[in-house]
Formats: sequence, structure tokens, C-alpha cells
Amino acid sequence: MRILVSGAGAAGLSAGIDLARAGHEVEIVERANHLRVNGSPVDVRGAAVETARGMGILDAVDEQRITMTEQTKFVDRYGVPVAPLLRQEIDESPDDIEIPREDLMNILREALPEQVDLRFEEFIATMADDGDRVAVAFASGREAAYDIVVGADGIHSGVRRLVFGPEQEFTEHLGMYVAIGDAPGQATPGNRTTEVFNLPGRMAGVARYRDRALALFEFRSEPIDYDHRDLDAQKRILAEAFAGIEDWKVPELVEAAQNDPELYFDAIAQIRMPAWHRGRTVLIGDAAHCATSMAGRGTSLALLGAWTLTEELGRHGDDFEAAFRAYEQRRRPHADAAQEFASTGADLVLPATWEGIEARNARLRAAQPL
Ligand SMILES: Cc1cc2nc3c(=O)[nH]c(=O)nc-3n(C[C@H](O)[C@H](O)[C@H](O)COP(=O)(O)OP(=O)(O)OC[C@H]3O[C@@H](n4cnc5c(N)ncnc54)[C@H](O)[C@@H]3O)c2cc1C
Repeated sequence: MRILVSGAGAAGLSAGIDLARAGHEVEIVERANHLRVNGSPVDVRGAAVETARGMGILDAVDEQRITMTEQTKFVDRYGVPVAPLLRQEIDESPDDIEIPREDLMNILREALPEQVDLRFEEFIATMADDGDRVAVAFASGREAAYDIVVGADGIHSGVRRLVFGPEQEFTEHLGMYVAIGDAPGQATPGNRTTEVFNLPGRMAGVARYRDRALALFEFRSEPIDYDHRDLDAQKRILAEAFAGIEDWKVPELVEAAQNDPELYFDAIAQIRMPAWHRGRTVLIGDAAHCATSMAGRGTSLALLGAWTLTEELGRHGDDFEAAFRAYEQRRRPHADAAQEFASTGADLVLPATWEGIEARNARLRAAQPL
């Protein structure tokens, strides 16, 4: 089949690898002008470890493994540790592989078979499914027809908007925002600790691995009206959310984020859809079922989604609708579970009150003394 994949994130690249290896002709279009590799480390967990093996990337992933959870501490306004982070609190198992997002993205890109046509600065402008093919007009003016279109373009999926309807119909805002930026000034040789500081409804932190440091932020807020692709607006919102806070390293971290041209900023919101496919279009990854960073499973679900879709297309031959149904049936319970788990994460990372912060710290200290 001739297959168009929209988005070159973990889901889109995995789809490119799996579908091309299964013999399909694959083109990937990515809206950005480069592979977006930034962000905080991600987890390859549960069944996704076996999927990575099947994709032939497990050894490469394992080689870049890092361990951050055990070195993560909640700190007070002076940087003094007040509570540990416990593995069981984030549902982590020793078999999970934690890996910098940039490493995983580069491994996936390397694994992409040569025949996959990956085009940057390109996105779908219009799609028309006539039952036999999907005619696509791209923003560049190019036109082409495909047997199947795979929407792997993340929480703000363009394919979802064009085929299923406006983003707000499927978005459940969890009342929080996240930002992650490079913080080179916070990297100290040999220091691998990740520190997290809370104020009610606010979290600022430093994640350290290898020779890198990242500034982490989360804050509670009603939905904010802004263009989600406007980096200046994102930086302004972040600065306003932490304005006037002089505690710990907050001012330096906010400044680091302001200086990062690749800052990652988004609403913590889930995508909930009654169906992940319509006609010849199917969604995978965050585009179908974003569970948020609170779930810690977005990347694993992306790998698994691409793999399952490819398996079912192989199993059902030309009957792509049966393949889409089987794919959704197999993956949906896992996506639902991840979304459910994420809904409870805020009390751990982002308590709304001082009482909540104190209670969390006491609970963690009781389970494992510092
Ligand atoms: C830059 C970046 C940083 C991230 N950092 C974190 C993080 O720190 N913590 C975390 O929990 N999650 C983060 N995420 C989300 C995380 O990557 C996903 O939850 C998970 O990996 C699932 O991946 P996905 O491929 O479904 O979606 P994504 O990783 O969001 O990938 C979607 C891709 O599609 C592209 N795209 C968007 N719209 C279009 C369009 N209309 N046409 C073509 N391409 C399009 C995007 O540029 C992106 O490359 C980040 C995502 C991005 C893009």
C-alpha cells in the first residue's frame, strides 16, 4: 500500500520503520523544519520493550539507558531535600528503560529504512477520501493520492482536525501546563540529581543526566487562549506563571527557559476519541489518545500503536477497515489505563496547597527515609 504518515515524532517514525519493513511504500511529512528531539527523558516500558526488540532498536535503546528516578528529590526553598521520589509512585518497573528523548528520536531516525521518504516543513492542507484513495493537497502546493493516511501528528494533530473535527471536541484539559527547556548553567560534572521544588499549584525543577541539565516546570491554570505554535507566547505565559517567585533556583530556571529556542511548552491535556479511524484514515500515538506526561507512557504507547497497526494491516490484507478495528480494539485498553493513571499524578508532582505538599512529603518520607 502507499501510505502517508503525518508527523515524525515517536509514533510517526515508528510507523515509518514498521510499515516500510512490512513492504509498504511510506512517506512521512513533518511540519517542523527538523526532527524535534528535545524534551525530558522518556520511558520504554512494559510491552514496548518487546516491540523495541522487534523493531531491532532494543540494543541501541539499552545502550543509552539512564536512571533518574532514584536520584530524584523534592527540595525546599533552600534546596534542602525534603522527600524522595519512589519508583512505585510512578508505576515504574525495573524492566523499564529510561532514555533521553533526543537519543530515542535519533535511534528511530537511524532505523528508518532508506526507502522511506521523510519530508520536513511539509504538512497536509486538505484531504479527500473518495472511498478508493485519499487525495491529499500539501501546504507546499504538492498533490498526491494514498491508500491510507496515518495521523501521527501529536496532541494538536492536523489529521484529526481535518478528518474528525475541531481539537476542542476531543480535548480534556487537566488544568495544568508543562514546560521543559535546556538549562546548561545547571549542569555540574558528576551531579546526577534531579531536584523538584513546589509551591502550591507550581513546580519548578532541574533534571540532570550525563552532562546535561533541563529546567522543568508545571503549573495549574485554567485553559489559556494562545496559539500553541507561538513560542514567544509560550515563553510569556511561562514567565507570568512564575513571576515574582524568588525561591530556590526559580528565577535562573525561568531565564534558562526564556533562552531556549526549542522550549517544549504545552497544556497537560488528554485526547479522548470515540473512534481512532474513519474511512482510510487512522490515528496513532498522542493524536489518538494523548495521556499526558503524567502517565509516563506516551512514548511506549506510540511504539506499540505503530507496531500493532502494522501487524493488523499484515493480517487483514486489503481489508484495511478490519485492520483498523482490530488495531483499535487491541490498543484501546492500554490507552484508557494510561489516561486513568495520569489523572492521579497531579497530587504527586503538583499539589494545589501547602497542606498537600506537606502531606505528600510526609507520605514519601514515611515510605522511604531520605
Ligand atoms: C518537541 C517535543 C517535546 C516533547 N517533550 C516531552 C516531554 O518532555 N515530556 C513528555 O511527557 N512528552 C513530551 N512530548 C510528547 C511526547 O513526545 C509524546 O507524548 C509521545 O512521545 C508520543 O509521541 P507522538 O509521536 O504521538 O507525538 P509527538 O511526540 O507530539 O510528535 C508529533 C510530531 O508531529 C509533528 N506535527 C504536528 N503537527 C503536524 C502537522 N499538522 N503535520 C505534520 N507534522 C506535524 C510535530 O512537530 C511532532 O514532530 C514532546 C513532544 C514534542 C513534539
